[in-house]
Amino acid sequence: MAKVLCVLYPDPAGGYPPPLVRDGLPHLERYPDGQTLPTPSAIDFTPGALLGSVSGELGLRRFLEGAGHELVVTSDKDGEDSEFDRHLVDADVVISQPFWPAYLTPERIAKAKNLKLALTAGIGSDHVDLDAAIEAGVTVAEVTYCNSISVAEHVVMMILSLVRNYLPSNRIASEGGWDIADCTARAFDVEGMDVGTVAAGRIGLAVLRRLAPFDVRLHYTDRHRLPAQTEKELNLTFHESAADMVPHCDVVTVNAPLHPETRGLFNNQLLSTMRRGAYLINTARGLIADRDAIVRALESGQLAGYAGDVWYPQPAPADHPWRTMPHHGMTPHISGSTLSAQARYAAGTREILESFFAGTALRDEYLIVDGGKLAGAGAHSYSTSS
Ligand code: NDP
Repeated sequence: MAKVLCVLYPDPAGGYPPPLVRDGLPHLERYPDGQTLPTPSAIDFTPGALLGSVSGELGLRRFLEGAGHELVVTSDKDGEDSEFDRHLVDADVVISQPFWPAYLTPERIAKAKNLKLALTAGIGSDHVDLDAAIEAGVTVAEVTYCNSISVAEHVVMMILSLVRNYLPSNRIASEGGWDIADCTARAFDVEGMDVGTVAAGRIGLAVLRRLAPFDVRLHYTDRHRLPAQTEKELNLTFHESAADMVPHCDVVTVNAPLHPETRGLFNNQLLSTMRRGAYLINTARGLIADRDAIVRALESGQLAGYAGDVWYPQPAPADHPWRTMPHHGMTPHISGSTLSAQARYAAGTREILESFFAGTALRDEYLIVDGGKLAGAGAHSYSTSS
């Protein structure tokens, strides 16, 4: 029988469970590319309930204990004395969400002698050292597509909120003001702007599709070019690299995984080639942007705004400069953890565990590392350091 160690974010301050806001979720059968939604044999949760916090347990306890496995759920994940470290030594499976990542460093992987599966309940497995997982023969899997559309919607929201100066204007209204000039002195229309995405995978392409009706000019860069038909349909301009693309854009959105090719991509040099007063939206991973270079670019006016929900480390320290820099629209890491997304990734996590325990192959699209190498979605979208 296996020991499953699951790291989830803490429960709401007001206690668990919070009241259900809506009765159920819209029914979806397939993702936009035709991939089916998760297909576990059953689920033990109410879709629309909070599942991603400790007491939500991703709806896994009845299923796992019913099959004789041990489930440990904790939010205590950092530091040598953490509950995570104490249980890791004999865990067979680790489950973690990118929003509250259990960083699986080479040292931790070396200590986890029984570890066979590192499962990301979400998308983005950069909190696992993939080189070390490859070396140790640990399978890394994620619930591909589960929250790609959730993030795409968030990106569109952030673009509109930055360009139209929504957040400061909302603050003025909440505080009793009517300072229209202060609201409008930084507000523009998105119409006619050049908008580019670094990566046109599941999220990046969904962002492009959602922005097309705004009558903007759309740009993208990616390691693999989109089909000619898609480029034509959305009137896309392809650029060979981010460096080639960003000088042509008023708004840039980052939608690539964090791996050796993208780490630190938005540094002083790249930012200096952007149009003055451009907007940068990063919901991909905090380390794709150089923390202090972003602050400097906002202070100098090189960037007119920066928004996103991804930081390093997570949770971000109270004095992280992105909390207080000018013209930002930062939130904690939430875009992929809507209640809608939680229902999908809880079901996908169960589907992956069912296959793993049955000894049957995981869906290829869920794999990042398997059999000592990048595999499935990971072989397409990630690189290793060697
Ligand atoms: P996909 O795998 O569908 O897309 C990733 C895309 O990035 C692929 O098209 C890939 O190219 C491309 N890419 C990889 N490296 C580069 C590079 N160096 N330059 C340009 N493009 C590159 O994943 P998703 O779109 O679903 O998710 C993307 C990322 O978004 C995740 O890895 C994660 O980090 C982040 N994310 C954030 C969430 C949040 O809550 N904020 C939630 C979900 C995801 P190709 O495959 O063609 O080689």
